[in-house]
This record gives sequence, C-alpha cells and structure tokens, in this order.
Amino acid sequence: MKNIIINGIEIKPGQQQKIDISIARLPSHTLIDLPVFVYRAKKPGPTLLLSAGIHGDEINGIEVVRRMILNKQLMPDIGCVIAIPLVNVYGFIHCSRSLPDGKDLNRCFPGGPRGSLARRIAHIVMKEIIPHIDYGVDFHTGGSRITNFPQVRAVLKEPINRELARAFGTKFILNSNFIDKSFRKEAFKAGKNILVFEGGESLRLDEYAIQEGIDGVCRLMNHLKMKNFLTAHHESMFLENSAWVRARISGIFNSLVSCGSSVTKGQPIASLADPYGKSRINIKSSVTGYVIGVNNMPVVNAGDALMHLANLPQ
Ligand SMILES: [Zn+2]
Repeated sequence: MKNIIINGIEIKPGQQQKIDISIARLPSHTLIDLPVFVYRAKKPGPTLLLSAGIHGDEINGIEVVRRMILNKQLMPDIGCVIAIPLVNVYGFIHCSRSLPDGKDLNRCFPGGPRGSLARRIAHIVMKEIIPHIDYGVDFHTGGSRITNFPQVRAVLKEPINRELARAFGTKFILNSNFIDKSFRKEAFKAGKNILVFEGGESLRLDEYAIQEGIDGVCRLMNHLKMKNFLTAHHESMFLENSAWVRARISGIFNSLVSCGSSVTKGQPIASLADPYGKSRINIKSSVTGYVIGVNNMPVVNAGDALMHLANLPQ
C-alpha cells in the first residue's frame, strides 16, 4: 500500500488524523494553520478529497464537510478520505471571498513557496494533498447575492468526470470549462479529477444545498465502493450550455420564476422597472431549460447578471 505522508506525518492504514499545516501568522502574530482531516481505511482503495472554503465567504460547503466530520461519516471501508473544511482561513475570518490583499485563491494555483499568501496556500495544497488523491469534490456557492441551485460542474467531455458527476447525482450537472490558475485545472494537469459543487449563496446557510452536498458525497462514496450509505439516487440532467441573462436597463429586478424551475422559450421570467411606477420591461426566456442561478439583489444596474439559464439537453 502506498504511503500517505502529509506535512511530515504518516497516516497508516486504519488511522485517522487531524494535521495542522502552518501557513503564516496574522498581523497580530496569531498563527494560522490549515487543518486537514485524514481518514484511512485498513483496506486499500481510492483517495477522495473534500475541500471547501477556497472562497472564504462560501459557507455551505464548509457546513457539508463539518457535518460529515461531526457525524463520523468520513472513515471509509476502503481507501482514504482527506477533508479540508476550510482552505481559505484568512477569507473566512474576514467574511471575504479573497485573501486580505484581495487575491482570489482560486486564480492563484498552482502557487509557489514564495509570493502572495494565496500562492503559498495554493502551493501547500498542491504539494501536500494533491499527490495523494485520486478524485476530489471542491465545494462552492454562488457569489455575492447570487444563489446557485445545487449543481455539479465539470468538463463533461472527460468520461471520468461524467461518471463521477452522475454518481454524485445532483439534479443538474453543468459542463464547465477550465478557468486558468484554478484549483480544478491545476489538479487536472496533475492527473486528478475534481468536481466543483455549487450550492446556495455566499454568507448564507442554505439547508437544501447543504443536504444535497452531503447526499452527493454519500452517493459518490457508494459509487467508489468506499462506503455503503443509505441514500436515494435521483436522475441527473447533463446541461451542456448555459448563459446569464443580463439587465438591459437599470432598475428594480423582480424575478417571476424560482431558482431550479423549468422555463420555456418566450416565457416571461422577470421584470425590470424604474422605482416610480412609470416604466417597466418584461424579460422573456430565450431558451427552453432551467433556472440554475438567480441574483437576489433587487436593485440592479444595466449589464448586471440576473438569471443563469441552462438549455434543456438536446
Ligand atoms: Zn467559490
């Protein structure tokens, strides 16, 4: 069996360990660690990474991993689970997506031992964690004031991604090309396939999204024969194309459809109005498909993203 050594600590078959990897001190000189939880079965098998909070204000994924640790669900029957509930500790304590200097950690991979704090954290993850894993799920939410209906994103032309995404089993599975310097892309370059889970909104707990995340991990571990959870399976839809509807004019945005609902081409989905009851325009769906993300901010400027629509699979 292969050795799993993280930060100089060996995790032997049958062991579970919390490993704190020192990152850097705050200006107050408080030391910040990256806590990594490792659960290794006695029997060999795949190694699955669960990572959350690369964006420090995206809390639902942190909750998914936290609850699974709390409920002792992560010790597999075979293989190994590596869980990092909170990658961007600095963003979390500032309720911020980014690092204190404004860098987006998910645009700083693979990073390096020197340079910005984001580059250093990325480097730790790439050096200490990625070599050990086979697959991963990286948990995210919509950005500021945007709710994403629970969905898995991956490059779907990779058969292994389709297989893993189907096993995870969210209702929607979205084709999503690689973003330069993202964790997912750099992991792929190292030969590791990582699904991105998106669910809910930043700085908001969303019980439905959290439960979908937990159920998805259970289904994925079942599929990888790492565990035998009792979890219902539901059929997923593979969505190849999606686009944001943007505001043609500034004003007050009223959504007429809920996140996750189906829409038909030509159906009114939202209105934009001035604040004085004088003018209003209706927005119609340009596609037959699904609403997979919605802006919760009612006051919008021209060009703002309003609704993320995915085409029905052909
Ligand atoms: Zn994110």
